[in-house]
Amino acid sequence: MTGTVLILGGTADAVALARLLEACAPGRALSSLAGRTSSPRLLPGRTRVGGFGGAGGLADYLTIEAISAVVDATHPFAARMSRNAVDACARANVPLLALVRPAWAPLAGDRWSRVPDVAAAASRAAELGRRIFVTIGSRELAPFAALGDRCRLVRAIEPPLEPLPPGVTLVLARGPFAEADERALMQRYRIDVVVTKDSGGDATVAKLIAARALGIRVVIVDRPVRPAVATTATPQGAFAWLESLA
Ligand code: NAP
Repeated sequence: MTGTVLILGGTADAVALARLLEACAPGRALSSLAGRTSSPRLLPGRTRVGGFGGAGGLADYLTIEAISAVVDATHPFAARMSRNAVDACARANVPLLALVRPAWAPLAGDRWSRVPDVAAAASRAAELGRRIFVTIGSRELAPFAALGDRCRLVRAIEPPLEPLPPGVTLVLARGPFAEADERALMQRYRIDVVVTKDSGGDATVAKLIAARALGIRVVIVDRPVRPAVATTATPQGAFAWLESLA
């Protein structure tokens, strides 16, 4: 295994892969962050921050930095970055692997409605309840702000760019969250619908477990369609793929 590995990051799996690489092949991991959060998690190995300037900019970057492989470990909803990675790696002839954690699957007792996008999530949540808890990040809140005080609670890592209507409580927090805390939060605000993206993984799954225990409905935004590329579900799988490259 030789050369620099560019990890397109922004997820816990990206951090885990950087940690694995740094432990086994120090100096090879170069993590890239979009720069959306003001105090991102500390990453093992080298880090760069900010967009590349589209697929063309990324292709140039791969060549200039002599990147030997790219692992797209961005969030399942970071569709543009994932498309750009496919395009750029094809142009620069660099091998690409997607590291995508599995989607969440319902268990007995879950009361889920799946919807295709955030606007549909707001409509469905308004049909289902009057005290909505929104956990979809800070950048796509407009359809929920339009619901007025039906949207009772918003949790995100960063503050929203646009102010939320009066009566909406904003909680700024980063997972992982504990189930008991999620349950207490939902009870304190008498939540009757939770809205989430299908992010998958363990860090934010506690809200789904808490909703199941309390019989609360959940509206889940389906993942966008991903480009067809070689994919693994785990950081260990990505590490094995890197080892397999000549
Ligand atoms: P996006 O819509 O697919 O990306 C928009 C643009 O942001 C990309 O075209 C790229 O700019 C830049 N970008 C995105 N990820 C980058 C990275 N890892 N390194 C450098 N530039 C990056 O993605 P997004 O939804 O804005 O997400 C941005 C970041 O937040 C991702 O790293 C993702 O893993 C993380 N994140 C997203 C969500 C979510 O729900 N979308 C949730 C949690 C974390 P250029 O075209 O200029 O290169």
